[in-house]
Amino acid sequence: MLQVNNLVKTYPNGTKALKGISFNVPKGAFLSVIGLSGSGKSTLLRCINRIHEPTSGSISFEGQEITHVNEHKLREVRTKIGMVFQHFNLINRRNVINNVLMGRLGQFNDHFLGGIFKKWPQEWIDDAYDALKIVGISDKALVRADGLSGGQKQRVAIARTLVQNPHLLLADEPVASLDPTTSYSVMNYLKDLNQKRNITVVCNLHFLSLVRDYSTHVIALKNGELVFEGKPTDITEKW
Ligand code: ADP
Ligand code: ADP
Repeated sequence: MLQVNNLVKTYPNGTKALKGISFNVPKGAFLSVIGLSGSGKSTLLRCINRIHEPTSGSISFEGQEITHVNEHKLREVRTKIGMVFQHFNLINRRNVINNVLMGRLGQFNDHFLGGIFKKWPQEWIDDAYDALKIVGISDKALVRADGLSGGQKQRVAIARTLVQNPHLLLADEPVASLDPTTSYSVMNYLKDLNQKRNITVVCNLHFLSLVRDYSTHVIALKNGELVFEGKPTDITEKW
């Protein structure tokens, strides 16, 4: 599904965030990426969906090299890669259904606030309601995003990626701003998508208990290097 090969990311200010990382993610896996703050987890996800341009190395997604493709191809690849962020990245002043519909406009990322249709195609609206039902929040469709709790916001953000029909879901600390109970609820939705809809998940997490409960595979980063790759049950050290 995903092969990362000798990936290097050096930011323009000289920070070496990733120093040559290689790993594979099999289709259907739930891979957790662990490591202390600043170890490069976020940079890794941003390189995979190309919010950031990798400095060198290669990333292959569903058998296709995506590090050096043209804009058109990149857009196509991105529709298959959903992303969920720690701080949800919803448009607060818009209602829930509009936020979900934004997912249809393409890869949603930090830099994109997209155009907003005055009138969405009915089929898109139906799909958006279906996505909201999957995360159990269709009753909030007409509520403004800033009227929701953190857990509800993250479920809306997940629904927003679902309308893309992603094959791969990248989640950057998806529960780091949530309380423990809500965290488990959101993680359960991610697990359902992984198991019932066969969406491969790559998830940055920092609570080892969640890593053990939810993932099938784990990698650990330390100062931009890969220091562990294995099963959750093989984790013996805290990175
Ligand atoms: P993590 O997600 O594990 O906390 P990050 O990927 O956010 O780690 O950061 C890895 C390193 O890269 C850190 O030293 C961080 O300060 C640095 N970094 C992250 N984003 C940028 C950026 N846009 N410009 C420069 N340095 C950055
Ligand atoms: P997080 O803890 O969620 O990784 P950060 O506070 O590290 O968030 O980063 C917030 C934003 O600032 C991110 O977009 C990251 O890429 C950017 N950033 C982080 N470190 C640096 C840095 N040293 N220089 C420039 N931008 C940075």
